[in-house]
Amino acid sequence: MNKKTLHKISYGLYIISSIKEGKLNGQIANTVFQITSEPPTMAISINKENLTHEYIRESKLLTVSILDQSAPMTLIGKFGFKTGREIDKFIDTKYKLSNNGVPIIEEAVMGFLEGEVIQEVDMGSHTIFIARVTDADITKDVEPMNYAYYHQVKNGKAPKTAPTYIEEDVKKSINIDKYTCSVCGYVYDPEKGDEAGGIKPGVAFEELPEAWLCPICGVGKSEFVKE
Ligand code: FE
Repeated sequence: MNKKTLHKISYGLYIISSIKEGKLNGQIANTVFQITSEPPTMAISINKENLTHEYIRESKLLTVSILDQSAPMTLIGKFGFKTGREIDKFIDTKYKLSNNGVPIIEEAVMGFLEGEVIQEVDMGSHTIFIARVTDADITKDVEPMNYAYYHQVKNGKAPKTAPTYIEEDVKKSINIDKYTCSVCGYVYDPEKGDEAGGIKPGVAFEELPEAWLCPICGVGKSEFVKE
C-alpha cells in the first residue's frame, strides 16, 4: 500500500470553535465535510487529546470558521500549535458569537458554519462529530484557504519571486543554513527572514536575537535544529 496516496486528498483549512461553561476554545482542523444537503449535516474529525474535543463533547455545539488565503501564520500558529489549556486564544483574536454563543473568528475568515452535534463516531485517536448545520453564511467574497495552498505558499515552499541576482548576493554574504522548529515544523530561512517578527531577509539564524520566538508555535531558538 502506498500511504502517500492519502496526501493527494484535498482539504480545506478551518478553525473549529466550541464552548464549555462560558469558556471559549478553538483549533485548526482540515477535516470538515458536508455529509447530506437535506437536512444539511457535516462531519468534523477532532483529536481526542485536544481541549476543543472536550468542549464539543460537553456542549454539543461548534462553529467552523472558514479561513481565507490571507490567513497569517501567526493566526494559524495560535490556533494550530498552541493549546487552550495554556493560553486564552480569544483574548487577542477578533470574533463574534454565533446564535448558540460559540465564537466565529473574524480575522482572515470568509464564512462560517454553526452546528449541533447529533452523533459521535469513535475512531480511536479521533472522534468524528456529525452535526446538524444550524446556521451558515459567507462573510467575504474571497477564496477560501485550502490545505495545498497552506503547504505550498504559507510554508515557504512557494516559488521564489526575488530576482536571482539578489538571491545569490544574499547567499554569499550570510550563513544561509535553514533551521527547523522541532515543535511545529516551521523553517527559518535566512533568505526570507521573519517579516512578522521584524527580522529582515538576510539575517542568519545565529544572528537572531535570543528573545526571538518561533512565529508559529512560540518556542525559543533552542528548539530549532539545523536542516
Ligand atoms: Fe514552532
